Amino acid sequence: MIQLEGITKLYPSGDATIKALDDVSLSVAGGELVVVAGPSGCGKTTLLLTAGGLLRPEKGRVLIKGRDLYKMSPEELAAYRAAHIGFVFQQYHLIPYLTVFENIVVPSLARQPAGPADRAVRLIESLGLKDRMHHVPASLSAGEKQRTALARALFPEPEIILADEITGNLDPVNATTVLEQLKSFAETGGTVLLVTHDEKAFGYAGRIIKMNEHTLIADNL
Ligand code: ADP
Ligand code: MG
Repeated sequence: MIQLEGITKLYPSGDATIKALDDVSLSVAGGELVVVAGPSGCGKTTLLLTAGGLLRPEKGRVLIKGRDLYKMSPEELAAYRAAHIGFVFQQYHLIPYLTVFENIVVPSLARQPAGPADRAVRLIESLGLKDRMHHVPASLSAGEKQRTALARALFPEPEIILADEITGNLDPVNATTVLEQLKSFAETGGTVLLVTHDEKAFGYAGRIIKMNEHTLIADNL
């Protein structure tokens, strides 16, 4: 479902260059929940953005369902991403002037057909957000914001969820809720790549891959 082949990603840094990913290869099959774990700065976010078509690597290929993302035109890539991939970030990236319900539904409205509103309501209920659905993000707790961001990613029924440190700001109860939701997404055939340094996530993973200093260090990649 997700194939990274020999990915090298460089960032310019003053006169020098930072090698954020150094020849990283990884395959994630459909229905897998894979956790990539490593310390801050080792390249987890870079790996996730590259895998999701948001950051072009200097070397290597990213194949999603066999299609080479960085060979597509920007328009093709944007449409392909929207059709197949949901992103969840530690910083939520909710739209501040929209309610919980609107944050979940509005990004999918450009798609044909947009998901039905009652599906959004069911997702909202399953994530324990019913009482908050007409509130804006400023009045939500961290856990409610992250559950809203997860519902937004799940609403268009993607095949893949890419998640970056999504339990980092959460108390244990909320962390469990979002991890359970990712697990059930994978159990119903979805594919999850979660990058994190939070060991709570390990218990939900089908496979844990350790990352260090810009490379993956476990076998079984
Ligand atoms: P992690 O998510 O594991 O904390 P990142 O992927 O964010 O790691 O960063 C990997 C390395 O690349 C770090 O050394 C970081 O400082 C550097 N880096 C990340 N983003 C940028 C950027 N936009 N410009 C320059 N350096 C960056
Ligand atoms: Mg990061």
